[in-house]
Amino acid sequence: MLTPRQLFLRHQAQTSDFPLLLEIERAEGVFMYGPDGRPYLDLISGIGVSNVGHRHPRVLEAIQHQLDKYLHLMVYGELVQAPPAELAHALHQTLPARLDSVYFTNSGTEAVEGALKLAKRHTGRTGLVSCHRAYHGSTQGALSVTGSEDFKRSYRPLLPDVQHIEFNDLTGLQLITEHTAAVIVETVQGEAGVRVPEAGYLTALRQRCTAVGALLILDEIQCGFGRTGTFWAFEQFGIEPDILLTAKGMGGGMPIGAFIAPQEIMAGFKSNPILGHLTTFGGHPVSCAAALATLRVIQEEQLLAGVTEKAALFRRLMRHPAIREVRGCGLLMAVEFDSFAVLKPIIDRALAQEGILTDWFLFCDNSLRLAPPLTITHAEIEQACVALLRAVSFVTGQEQGAA
Ligand code: PMP
Repeated sequence: MLTPRQLFLRHQAQTSDFPLLLEIERAEGVFMYGPDGRPYLDLISGIGVSNVGHRHPRVLEAIQHQLDKYLHLMVYGELVQAPPAELAHALHQTLPARLDSVYFTNSGTEAVEGALKLAKRHTGRTGLVSCHRAYHGSTQGALSVTGSEDFKRSYRPLLPDVQHIEFNDLTGLQLITEHTAAVIVETVQGEAGVRVPEAGYLTALRQRCTAVGALLILDEIQCGFGRTGTFWAFEQFGIEPDILLTAKGMGGGMPIGAFIAPQEIMAGFKSNPILGHLTTFGGHPVSCAAALATLRVIQEEQLLAGVTEKAALFRRLMRHPAIREVRGCGLLMAVEFDSFAVLKPIIDRALAQEGILTDWFLFCDNSLRLAPPLTITHAEIEQACVALLRAVSFVTGQEQGAA
């Protein structure tokens, strides 16, 4: 009998020669457990998903309840099923009144795909603008607006008519013109290493889009659903999108995403051609039930209220002469070191010796990712930071007090 690890390596498609290879048997709250029962404190929420912790009892209950009724019934948008209908309503209630129509997908990248099509359909234009070092997904449309040539080179040709601007740089806004169908931007950039918009940047971007008639798509797939301390990150920056994207944390551990737009924009999918965007599984009833429970947990357990304080505790504790900077917005944080050569052994040591699971970022390999479940306690944050700093001191040979 081959072990799961052997089967994983032999038969499960690999995307690198150095997967983490950590075997997990179960998970609960902020912890994952290996087959030997060893706990791992999850500081990245797999990635940005477990905002309400692993296996939140209310999410499990909602899933169980739906399992007893029905699973998949029919392709998207034909039958009336309570879970997606109620979830769409609950999402709308968290949003500006204008964003009143929700299209459910299975993933973040599919939400991006749908939104890009919708923007082209609505404006009749083809130009797309996105940011350097933005990550929007791996399918061909989403990859086209992802801001990394390294990730795209081998897969060209991709979508034509895509231009990239520098996040937080106002000079790039002139590339947004009457030719632009949409600008897609992460409200807080994730894979770029957590880049928070500077004062006025998103307002200027919003104004430019409005002035030229381009739609503004905010990708909150990583930074939404409470991660930054408000339900949606854009609430902190005084702007509203034309299309909003969500996924990841939305499902409380189940796969689901959505793009959300005003009815009159979404109506583009109804004609020329009819059935302009289709999916078999998008809005799966079990995922929708889980997402509605997740939304209610965030609201009713007042998880948002604790985020700022927890982030501040991380910032207070993560001090070390080897740390160059701590960036972040709520519990989406990056701890910067000199280089990947310094950071990688810290991540490895934290996992192997301390049982702490962290990571770096796709487009920022000198920074440690901190994005724990929002349910993490102050005691767990202290435990995590002490352990992380022990790993930093061990790897760098510098003592914490030497700052
Ligand atoms: N947008 C952003 C900002 C993301 O962080 C991600 C995933 N890392 C995606 C889109 C793609 O989402 P998914 O992996 O669910 O397709």
